[in-house]
Amino acid sequence: MANFNTHLTVAAIGSGALATVCLATGVVSPNEMVMLTLAGTIGGLLPDIDLDHSSPTKLMFTVLALLIAFFAIFSQADDYAIIELWMLWGFCYAVVRYPLWQFFNEFTAHRGIFHSLLSALFFWFFTTTICYQIFDFQAFLSWLVGSFIFIGFIIHLGLDEWYSVEFNNRRVKRSFGTAMKLWDYKRRNNSLMMAGAVLVLYLMTPDNSEFFRVWGDSATYGHIGARFFPEGMWFASF
Ligand SMILES: [Zn+2]
Repeated sequence: MANFNTHLTVAAIGSGALATVCLATGVVSPNEMVMLTLAGTIGGLLPDIDLDHSSPTKLMFTVLALLIAFFAIFSQADDYAIIELWMLWGFCYAVVRYPLWQFFNEFTAHRGIFHSLLSALFFWFFTTTICYQIFDFQAFLSWLVGSFIFIGFIIHLGLDEWYSVEFNNRRVKRSFGTAMKLWDYKRRNNSLMMAGAVLVLYLMTPDNSEFFRVWGDSATYGHIGARFFPEGMWFASF
């Protein structure tokens, strides 16, 4: 199992690199690129969301609460007075930081359902829905932000799996396959509930045709390929 710092670093580098590809290809603006990197980094920390009482998890909830509170007021800044924005900020922060944190702390087993590919889908659709419905993002951008959460999540699971093989040789048998799993095989009810939640959330997501058209189009990858290496001298425009 990789530690918090490793997860943070690898997820930030991985999602930063992918967000750069999106920026260079013209799919997103510089601001959106920063947001994608942030989403990927958060995704890389989310699978350990139920790690009991550890300070990294607490810190993660604090950061998550801050981010959600800020996003909420950014998207509503034009419609509300300052005092209303402050109250909205405080409300969003408090809800995420206390009841939600309490919920995760009490009702989840570490490396249970939240450490699975099914949960990766849950957080993808959840993020996409929130971005679209609450933050008023375009459908395409909402899907993109969600997909970065998903990618960060997969990076985390892969990293845990890799560490259990590489650095834990003697105990490979015990921990192998516990990180990267489709769902929680031991707790069937939790898995069923999660599957239901994934389905409901998917139905709430906005139209995804543009998202799949862009990423299913060979022209997009041709464009990425063309932009990958400099045409002439490296760093010529310095
Ligand atoms: Zn983990």
